[in-house]
Amino acid sequence: KTFQELDLIAPLQRALADENYEIPTPIQAQTIPAALDERDVLGCAQTGTGKTAAFALPILNRLGSQPRKTQPGRPAVLVLAPTRELAIQIGDSFATYGKHLKLRHALVYGGVGQHKQVRDMQRGVHVLVATPGRLLDLMTQGHIQLDRLEVFVLDEADRMLDMGFLPDLKRIISKLPSRRQSLFFSATMPPKIVELTQRLLHDPVSVNV
Ligand code: AMP
Repeated sequence: KTFQELDLIAPLQRALADENYEIPTPIQAQTIPAALDERDVLGCAQTGTGKTAAFALPILNRLGSQPRKTQPGRPAVLVLAPTRELAIQIGDSFATYGKHLKLRHALVYGGVGQHKQVRDMQRGVHVLVATPGRLLDLMTQGHIQLDRLEVFVLDEADRMLDMGFLPDLKRIISKLPSRRQSLFFSATMPPKIVELTQRLLHDPVSVNV
């Protein structure tokens, strides 16, 4: 199967051609059609499998095919990542694949001043890529609200739990609207992760690569 057969909108096809992507990786081939159907996805995949595009492309397809206005502090999509480095990589992927679309994304992570992040949120973004601690700080301060969220992505969930983020994660999950699409990725599926997927996902399509 080629990317043409996945029925992505033209601006995404063009970005993929710019990157010389021709064939979807196995996780992309299995995840993208389900995610385009607005199904929840449970992906068991390591880094290097192409999992970032597996969630970024269907999200960009959704945002690009029915444009919506941004609202200050209220992202349409939230991607949670365990580390600043991963958040930055994910943000770069959204920028690359979304380069022919007029969408805005922002990054929110700890270890740096929050002023620029708050300003970015007030300006409004379609996609927010965040680490859990700083996201909760900005939510508590009223700078970010998740009530307009349409898609929630949890990337490297097992690593997030290893880093002790489970309490933060539960607080964030409790603020998500019940009507949403959730895309969940983890390299391993220990019992605590399985429990979390049961809490978070509705009738997910499971993909194991
Ligand atoms: P990831 O697993 O998301 O970190 O992606 C691993 C690397 O594979 C990244 O450098 C991507 O740019 C690249 N990549 C992802 N999907 C494809 C594809 N379908 N064809 C070629 N390269 C890809």
